[in-house]
Amino acid sequence: MDSDSSQRKPCRRCLLSEIDRNGVYRTVREYIASLDESVKCSREEYSQRLCVCKSCEHLSDGMCALCGCFVEVRAVKSNQICPDLPRRW
Ligand code: SF4
Repeated sequence: MDSDSSQRKPCRRCLLSEIDRNGVYRTVREYIASLDESVKCSREEYSQRLCVCKSCEHLSDGMCALCGCFVEVRAVKSNQICPDLPRRW
């Protein structure tokens, strides 16, 4: 048993906010904060979208396996849609 095996591994269904790998989430949060409010969806819509992503089999390590986006970035933009067919949000 190596020393890393006792550490908790992030699950596949984690959002980036739950992984915070090498500060990537901080960069993502800064990017989201830099976006003009006019391009963002409401907080409620954002939460609903992320809730759907959390239960989606395509979520892997904070990224959508279908489009390659960090879902927290894709979901915050009001003009973006889920890439699945049929779309989930
Ligand atoms: S397919 Fe849609 S719901 Fe699933 S992770 Fe990608 S963006 Fe989220």
